[in-house]
Amino acid sequence: MYRIDHWIDGHTVASTSGRNGNIFDPATGQVQGTVAFADVSEVDKAVANAKAVLPAWRATNLSRRAEIMFNMRELVSANRKEIAALLTKEHGKVTADALGELARGLENIEYACGIPNLLKGGYSEQASAGVDVYNIRQPLGVVAGITPFNFPAMVPMWMFANAVACGNTFILKPSEKDPSAAMLIAELLKQAGLPDGVFNVVHGDKVAVDRLLDHPDIAAVSFVGSTPIARYIYETGTKNGKRVQALGGAKNHMLVLPDADLDMAADALVSAAYGSAGERCMAISVVLAVDTIADDLVSKVQSRIPNIVVGNGSDPSSEMGPLITGEHRDKVASYVAAAAGEGAKVVVDGRDGAPTEGFFLKPSLIDHAKPGMKCYDDEIFGPVLTVVRVKSYEEGLQLINDNQFGNGTAIFTRDGGVARQFQFDVNVGMVGINVPIPVPVSYYSFGGWKASLFGDLHMYGPDGIQFYTRSKVVTSRWPDPRTSKVDLGFPQNR
Ligand code: NAD
Repeated sequence: MYRIDHWIDGHTVASTSGRNGNIFDPATGQVQGTVAFADVSEVDKAVANAKAVLPAWRATNLSRRAEIMFNMRELVSANRKEIAALLTKEHGKVTADALGELARGLENIEYACGIPNLLKGGYSEQASAGVDVYNIRQPLGVVAGITPFNFPAMVPMWMFANAVACGNTFILKPSEKDPSAAMLIAELLKQAGLPDGVFNVVHGDKVAVDRLLDHPDIAAVSFVGSTPIARYIYETGTKNGKRVQALGGAKNHMLVLPDADLDMAADALVSAAYGSAGERCMAISVVLAVDTIADDLVSKVQSRIPNIVVGNGSDPSSEMGPLITGEHRDKVASYVAAAAGEGAKVVVDGRDGAPTEGFFLKPSLIDHAKPGMKCYDDEIFGPVLTVVRVKSYEEGLQLINDNQFGNGTAIFTRDGGVARQFQFDVNVGMVGINVPIPVPVSYYSFGGWKASLFGDLHMYGPDGIQFYTRSKVVTSRWPDPRTSKVDLGFPQNR
C-alpha cells in the first residue's frame, strides 16, 4: 500500500483534508494505494503559490524556458520505462501501449522546446507616418489542467508543456484513478530546472475541480474527459470569466468502402477498437460496412479476435489489459448483454472466458447495430466494436454527420477522389484516410467537433500556444516633440 499526496511549491505536501480515494490495481482488482482528495484550502494554497511565483517565471527569458523543456525531454526519455511501469500499474494498459503513450506525450514537450520561435509576434513598420504596430503574446497567469484516467501522462503533457513554456504557472488535477504518473512528472520537471511552484499537482474529485472553476486567480482551464463533465466545466468556467477548452467523449466511426483492402481494414479495426481495451477517445467503436463487403469484413475481424492475448499489462506477452475499474467493466459488459435484446447480433461476447481476477473483459463484436440502440448511441469506452451495415458511402457519411460526437473518424478506400470528398464533407474534427487513429502530430492541434469539444481552441500545437497566451497590440511612434500639436480628430492612417 502506498499513498499519493499533493505536489505544491516543488515538493510533496501531505493532505490534511481527511478525504481519500482508493487506487486499484486493475489487473488484480485489489486496492494498492490511496490518493488524497484536496479540500478547498489545499487548492487555494496551490493557487496562491502558483500566483506568487508567476512574476518571476513570466520574466524568465525564452532561452531558459526552452532549455528547461529540452532538459525535460531528455529526462522523460531516460525515465520512460519507469513512467510506463506506473501507467501499467494503475491504469492497466500493456507496457508497449504505455511506452507509446509516452512517445506521443513527449512530442508535445519537443514542440514546446521551440517556444522562442512559437511566441514570435508580427511587426508592421510604417503603419502610418513614423508609426509602427506590433503584437506580442503574453501568458494568461495561473492556469489549470483537469485530466482523464486513460492517458495519465500524455494528456497532462498536452497541456503543461505549452502552458509553462508560454510563461504561465500550472495546476494539474489528474484523474484520481491513476495519480502516480503526475507525481513522477512533477519530480522530473523539478530536475529539469523548472522553478518550484510553476507546476503543481492537486489530487481529488469534484471538490477540487469546482474550486479551480470558481477560484478568482485561475485564468484558464483545460479539460479532457467525458462529455457531460466537459460541458459542465465549459459552462461553469466560462460563467466565471475563465478561458476554457473542454474536450469530451467520442464515438468514432470507420467507413469501409467495397474497394478497400479488407485484410488491411480488419487489421486496422482490431487494432483501433481493442488497443488499450478500447479506453481511448480516438478508438474506433463503430465500423460502417458497405453491404457488399460487410459479411467478409465481419468474418475477418471475428477471425482475428481469438488471437488477441488478454492479460496483465506487465506481462510482455499481453496485448490487451484490464479495464480501469470493476464498475466500468460491468457497465461495458452491460452493453454487450443488452445488444441482442435490442435487435443486434453479438458475434463475439467478451464476457466469455474473461479472467475472473481483476477488471478484465475480452473483445466483443456486435453486428447489425442501428441508431436507437444503446450499443450504437452511447460512448461505451471499452473493447466493444459495433458494426452498422450501410448501403452506400452517402448513407455512411450521413450517419457520421448525424452523430452527436465528432472526435475522430476514418475512411478505408483505394479511391483518392472519394477520400478527398469525405475529408471535405465530414463533420468531424480529426479525419484518417486509411489511418484508423488519426491523432494529430504535436505541431498540429487535437480536437473534435460537436459534443467532443466545448470551446473555440483545440488542444496543443498552434491552438495550444494561442490558448495559453493573449495577444497585445502595440502602436508606437517616436516623433520629434517640436511637431506636436493638439488634434481632436480620430487618428487616421491616410
Ligand atoms: P471523467 O469525465 O469521468 O473525468 C475526467 C476528469 O474530471 C477527472 O479528473 C475527474 O476527477 C473529473 N471529474 C469527474 N467527475 C466530475 C464532476 N462531477 N465534477 C467535476 N469534475 C469531475 O472522464 P474519465 O472517465 O476519466 O475519462 C474517460 C472519458 O474521457 C471518455 O469519455 C473519453 O472519451 C474522454 N476522453 C476524451 C479525450 C479527448 O481528447 N476528447 C481524450 C481522452 C479521454
